[in-house]
Amino acid sequence: MKSEQAIVDLLCSVVEDSTVLRSNQVSALDPGWEEGNTGASVAVRPRSADEVSAVLKACNEAEVPVVTHGGRTGLSGGAVSEPGQVIMLTDRIEGGIDIDPLERVAVVSVAVTQQELQEAAAEHGLALGLNTASRGSATIGGMISTNAGGMEAFRFGMMRQRMLGIEAVLADGSIVSDLTRVPKANEGYDLKQLFCGAEGTLGVVTRAVIKLEDPEPESNTTMLAIPGAAAALRLMRAVQQSGGLLLCELMWREYAAAVATGTGLERVLAFCDDAPAYLVMESALQEDELLNLLEPFFETGDIIDAVMAKSESESADIWRIREDSQAAFRVLKNPALFDISVPLGKLDAYMVDLEKRLADIASDISLQALAHLGDGNLHLTVARDEPWTDAELDQISRAIEHGVKEMGGAVSAEHGIGTAKLKTFSRNAADGNLGAMRAIKAALDPKGILNPGKVVPA
Ligand SMILES: Cc1cc2nc3c(=O)[nH]c(=O)nc-3n(C[C@H](O)[C@H](O)[C@H](O)COP(=O)(O)OP(=O)(O)OC[C@H]3O[C@@H](n4cnc5c(N)ncnc54)[C@H](O)[C@@H]3O)c2cc1C
Repeated sequence: MKSEQAIVDLLCSVVEDSTVLRSNQVSALDPGWEEGNTGASVAVRPRSADEVSAVLKACNEAEVPVVTHGGRTGLSGGAVSEPGQVIMLTDRIEGGIDIDPLERVAVVSVAVTQQELQEAAAEHGLALGLNTASRGSATIGGMISTNAGGMEAFRFGMMRQRMLGIEAVLADGSIVSDLTRVPKANEGYDLKQLFCGAEGTLGVVTRAVIKLEDPEPESNTTMLAIPGAAAALRLMRAVQQSGGLLLCELMWREYAAAVATGTGLERVLAFCDDAPAYLVMESALQEDELLNLLEPFFETGDIIDAVMAKSESESADIWRIREDSQAAFRVLKNPALFDISVPLGKLDAYMVDLEKRLADIASDISLQALAHLGDGNLHLTVARDEPWTDAELDQISRAIEHGVKEMGGAVSAEHGIGTAKLKTFSRNAADGNLGAMRAIKAALDPKGILNPGKVVPA
């Protein structure tokens, strides 16, 4: 392992001294969602693809590992770094946002945050088509590298479907430049997709071309108290078939109650605080149209009770119950997070079976669950007063992934593999898939300097 000074000297030989951060500056960075993100003692803040290229070329020759950082909101440990490594900060990469409203296309630097691009698109009467609760910090670079999804993915796809082009720098410093801005481009292998979801293991993304969408219509927010996932699906499909469904998020009671307690917004659930689950929908239907559509579901028992936001602040409160998962983590002890996808037709049975499997492991497990319902994407958190042992966490992880691949789901849905999901991924992936991934990694990063130990199981 090279010393801090040796790494600083290496970097200063290819970029300006002022772009190189020493240990005192690195430790002053906000580590974001993982304490270990700022474990390395040296960071570099390039301003262009050429500077990224110079840094990677030097690091590759000297075999110094590089961990790229965007907004540090990743939830799978993909940005964790160690002494002897270099953190590649992307927040000063120039290029900003260039929108062509007629083409409905944005060419952006990876430094741009999701919210900045949402706001810039709105100025042109357009929408991004991607929406996560981490919008204020998550960067376009991080969202490409994790193939981010979120609440609108069931309508517009994940980042993979939103990208038209990319610019990225490989480990040896060569630049892959494919800033294509048209949807039809069959020019051999689709290289941009290699970097999407690669979590910085195949290259550093510097710019991208992103598709934009029509602006969202006026909408209303409804919170439905419901018996469970099967009812949620019937309700979602009914509103979807009417053409008015914009967002549709399902929360089981324990999650909603934990966020309500953590935010002091217990009043939001007061209309029915003992329902097994809650469905939050944003819909473009007129209020009376929506009420007519939902009315029969009160009789069938799919809706226990309902509340419709009467003002923007009531709508914001309802959405805060869904989005402020950090507030839940403040009241939960020892939370452990999981992120999977289950085919929609199996969701209800999966949740019933999962509760039984978890109860067999320990009687004091509390399960907090929410779903981006349209995609069958479940975010599951287990918590309890006592700290977990490694063996218990392994058992819980196996209970959660049980049967998921066989039914056609995914053991990591939108947060990626990073370090947190390596074991889970490795035991659920086909040998052929792992072999192909290792071959791609070895071809593009033969010395293994890019985000080592992440995504690709050894
Ligand atoms: C409150 C909250 C809500 C969230 N909700 C969602 C959600 O609904 N849907 C969803 O998909 N995710 C969600 N996330 C997870 C997270 O926001 C996304 O994974 C996001 O895309 C990460 O972006 P980032 O800029 O913070 O990346 P970082 O955390 O900085 O990095 C993530 C990974 O990408 C790599 N990377 C970052 N930038 C680059 C680059 N330019 N080139 C190459 N590699 C790079 C890093 O090395 C790391 O492996 C949520 C997170 C939080 C905290």
